[in-house]
Amino acid sequence: MHIKEFQEMMRRLYFHRDSERGVKGTYDWLVEELGELGEALEGNDKEATEKEFADVIAWLASLANITGIDLERAAINKYSGKCPKCHQSPCQCKF
Ligand SMILES: [Zn+2]
Repeated sequence: MHIKEFQEMMRRLYFHRDSERGVKGTYDWLVEELGELGEALEGNDKEATEKEFADVIAWLASLANITGIDLERAAINKYSGKCPKCHQSPCQCKF
């Protein structure tokens, strides 16, 4: 499954609810899920961490759907096999 297909699946499942909740409410959920991912990472529980990653990408796709963003196109346009800053692969940017 490609990112685009995942985003379309999320649209079929949740667009009616996501669009009712709106951009701010959906963004807030994404932030909440990022917080839970952070907690799972600290807990060192791989299974819990995997589930939180799933929630983060699901809410990111929901937010993209209601803002009219094609996640796959956006990601590939910016990260097309090279670092968008130094244009190298692997990245040679200084920390
Ligand atoms: Zn770089």
